[in-house]
Amino acid sequence: MRIRFWGVRGSVPWATPAAIGFGCNTPCVEVRDDRRGSYLILDGGSGLVGLSDTFAGEPRPTPLLLSHYHWDHTQGLPFFGPLFSPGWTPEVFAPALADVPADWIETLFQPPNFPVPFAGLPNRPTVTFIEASRHEIGGFSVSVQPLTHPGGAFAYRIHGRTGDLCYVTDHEFGNPAVDEPLLEFCKGCAALISDAHFTPDELVRHRGWGHGDWRQVAEFASQCHAGRLFLFHHKPGRTDIELTQIVGAARRVFPSTDAACEGLAFDI
Ligand SMILES: [Zn+2]
Ligand SMILES: [Zn+2]
Repeated sequence: MRIRFWGVRGSVPWATPAAIGFGCNTPCVEVRDDRRGSYLILDGGSGLVGLSDTFAGEPRPTPLLLSHYHWDHTQGLPFFGPLFSPGWTPEVFAPALADVPADWIETLFQPPNFPVPFAGLPNRPTVTFIEASRHEIGGFSVSVQPLTHPGGAFAYRIHGRTGDLCYVTDHEFGNPAVDEPLLEFCKGCAALISDAHFTPDELVRHRGWGHGDWRQVAEFASQCHAGRLFLFHHKPGRTDIELTQIVGAARRVFPSTDAACEGLAFDI
């Protein structure tokens, strides 16, 4: 299984020279297993635009699995290349969360939000709501776990031949009824990608925003015996120097820590 980051920033894309090293696009992660022909995209943030740009050759399925519906995780969707390339097979899988209208995707494309209405797309995607259970998506077996986030969000565990990937964004620690099953859910994963939006100091002023800090995430990675940790959903404007310092501090809690970086790929 090969994983590549296309967007690693939380909330809004914010390109500043001081932060460009780790990348400024919002969440999008590509997961593939070429030996099995399995393929999956996690989240449709602005990073999805750069990923779409790589699609070439024979048309193929491009399943996209959303963690939730906030703009930073969906704003690349109107620019998803396969929607405009007949022959390709865009598929969208979205969490069955409370109060999500059945026509949520039409709203994204509805004028005046976007010039091409959903019904007018050259290649409309299939849209499937998924429950918090186990699914086969894109040739991968995917387990699902609810998170603590305004409006809700799902974490995913993607089961691989030689290890599993856990994708845990956006989540605020503090509710044992959610955190304890989440710890069980992530136990022994080969790699954990987790929401470290805040520093511990910042989190004190942002309770209820639905995000974690790097220390909580590093402690969580240690407790669930993850193989390695990628801090993710970096706060907009967080500079490369600050992120490097955060990684250094997080490694004192969990040594196998890196910050997710746009363009970075790793294998499980
Ligand atoms: Zn987010
Ligand atoms: Zn969110």
